[in-house]
Amino acid sequence: MKRAIFPGSFDPLTLGHYDIISRGVTLFDEIIVAIGVNSSKKYMFSLEERKVFIEKAFIDEPKVKVVTYKGLTVDFCKEIGVEFILRGLRNPADFEFEKAIAHTNRDLAPIETVFLLTAASTSYIASSIVRDVIRNNGDYTKLVPKSVRVK
Ligand code: ADP
Repeated sequence: MKRAIFPGSFDPLTLGHYDIISRGVTLFDEIIVAIGVNSSKKYMFSLEERKVFIEKAFIDEPKVKVVTYKGLTVDFCKEIGVEFILRGLRNPADFEFEKAIAHTNRDLAPIETVFLLTAASTSYIASSIVRDVIRNNGDYTKLVPKSVRVK
């Protein structure tokens, strides 16, 4: 069984993440969306909220699982026996950043990173921009799946 983890903060899940996960399920038997917990980072949405947003968005897709983890992504992959990391690439800046991480991860463990180019229609979307729109009371609903709503 081919399984991949899709790691990130998902603060919050966007249509860009949704696109990568939806396309990932056509390539892998299981996609484990893994929310990384970094205690020194400030998040807009709680861990539970972020998890529920993703679970609800993929309620009809049994191949998608949502988990949380602490520490290095490769250590978590080894712990749960996953051989692939899935990442999305939006632009050249993402590529340079992801390249360094993927090389480092391969030094640490025999885990392959698989990249998918983002859909043109969602490639401009970033969680940080969604948070800015929310903070300034803009209409963020066009940028995120329906499961993501501010209370
Ligand atoms: P991080 O904490 O690594 O910034 P994110 O939650 O922002 O995590 O992103 C997780 C993954 O989703 C990364 O591989 C990132 O490239 C990808 N991603 C982020 N935004 C988009 C988007 N608009 N389209 C496709 N992939 C995206």
